[in-house]
Amino acid sequence: MSEFTLGIIGGGQLGSMLSIAAKKLKIKTVIYCNDQKAPAQNFCDEFIHAQYDDKNKIYNFAKQVDVITYEFENIPFETLNELNKLKTVLPKPSVNRLIQHRLAEKDFINKLNIRTTRYVYIESKEDLLPLEDFLPGILKTTTMGYDGKGQYPIIDIKDIETLNIDFKNEYILEKLVKLKKEISVIITRFSNNKYEIYEPIENTHEDQILRHSKIPAEIDQKIFTQSKEWSIMIAEELKYIGTLCVEFFIDCNNNLYVNEIAPRVHNSGHLTINAYNVSQFENHVRAVCSLKQIPIQKLSNAEMINLIGKEIIPYRENPNLNDKQFFYDYLKKDINEKRKMGHLTTLK
Ligand code: ADP
Ligand code: MG
Repeated sequence: MSEFTLGIIGGGQLGSMLSIAAKKLKIKTVIYCNDQKAPAQNFCDEFIHAQYDDKNKIYNFAKQVDVITYEFENIPFETLNELNKLKTVLPKPSVNRLIQHRLAEKDFINKLNIRTTRYVYIESKEDLLPLEDFLPGILKTTTMGYDGKGQYPIIDIKDIETLNIDFKNEYILEKLVKLKKEISVIITRFSNNKYEIYEPIENTHEDQILRHSKIPAEIDQKIFTQSKEWSIMIAEELKYIGTLCVEFFIDCNNNLYVNEIAPRVHNSGHLTINAYNVSQFENHVRAVCSLKQIPIQKLSNAEMINLIGKEIIPYRENPNLNDKQFFYDYLKKDINEKRKMGHLTTLK
């Protein structure tokens, strides 16, 4: 059998875990990333360091691979579109363009009659003034946000006066939901009505960064079923190929809202590596490389904790694990405050 090669754009920990999953399936990986220090170069077969608008390097990358995927959504549409003329890009570039724009994403979800937070498009400070009804709220850039970056809480109308942001960007203002809980659902779609869906995962955030995930989520049957149904509807409507994550809010009245969609494997799904027979990463590789779909089975309950900034240090020195604990070091050289450095999964 001739060797199959998967191209991955982006070289963070998600790229590393996709490479590890591909290797297990005897698929070669080439990673293309604009960060010279990208940690995934420790795990892939080949690494290309280049900018996302470097036409020559993009062309050479496409020549080396059979199919192309990506590990983060903030890639210029032009890059994905150019690549897609040379080799198949999955998920499709048009899906990425929709989801990477918060306004287009929320409009799409609402058209499916799925609940989101209330939101409104904002172009200038003046746009905010009549919107007291949306406060307390969060102003979010429409593109390029992650881990709470590009987000500005506005508690009351007085905060607008002192707001020091650049309206060269576009924003949406979102009404704050009184959160009871956050959950996520990860689904891998292979083709029409053929998908594998993981059970909802309960997530805790600190400073808008994911801190902790666990299965089972402590939710009732209504939320369990509705979150899965909405995730299937979204994946089917997008004709999505690969792994997708839907993030949800549950408010104090037990209403479910879609917060956002990630067109990729997701941090909350790291526990699927140890808790399921097939992880979200392996499923993504299987789907985009047209490999066989295997029914997923949960092997164990689990929880995962992100190791942020300096928290990685004691684990690097002496992880001291029992046989139900699994420590992952992303091998990032620079330790920065608020940077995800590794994680620990514990089977329950
Ligand atoms: P990111 O793209 O940075 O992940 P999110 O929109 O998911 O942005 O926001 C990050 C976190 O901030 C959420 O998981 C949630 O904890 C909190 N948050 C964001 N928007 C709201 C909201 N409208 N109401 C309540 N909490 C919110
Ligand atoms: Mg989010």
